[in-house]
Amino acid sequence: MCDCIFCKIGKGEISSKKYYEDDDFFIISDISPKAKCHYLMIPKNHYKLISEQTENDRKIIAKMFDVLPKIQHELGLDGGYRLIINQGEDGGQEVPHLHIHILGGEKLKSF
Ligand code: 5GP
Ligand code: ZN
Repeated sequence: MCDCIFCKIGKGEISSKKYYEDDDFFIISDISPKAKCHYLMIPKNHYKLISEQTENDRKIIAKMFDVLPKIQHELGLDGGYRLIINQGEDGGQEVPHLHIHILGGEKLKSF
């Protein structure tokens, strides 16, 4: 049994509003937003690190990058956005299921 929160949300075992969903990935709001808009774009396949990706996992990431600009307006991200992928302990990854943070809806501080 998978005890992963993002797998459970993906399978609908835990309810969470999905702003986008297809067979391969979905987009939800982060429970603890760090910007006016803070989404998580999550592949349905469970893996933690980019280094673990299969060829198909890479295709799904490419598909995310195709879809995101098409739904950017619906997500309130017309002004642009920032994508972040935390990887491993030093990267501050809390949930061991690869996900892309999408931050926007306001002018973000540069870093
Ligand atoms: P990480 O640090 O792993 O890159 O980010 C994990 C993110 O998932 C955090 O920003 C955290 O707020 C978010 N998160 C953790 N649990 C849940 C949850 O149950 N639902 C949602 N929507 N977000 C979650
Ligand atoms: Zn998972």
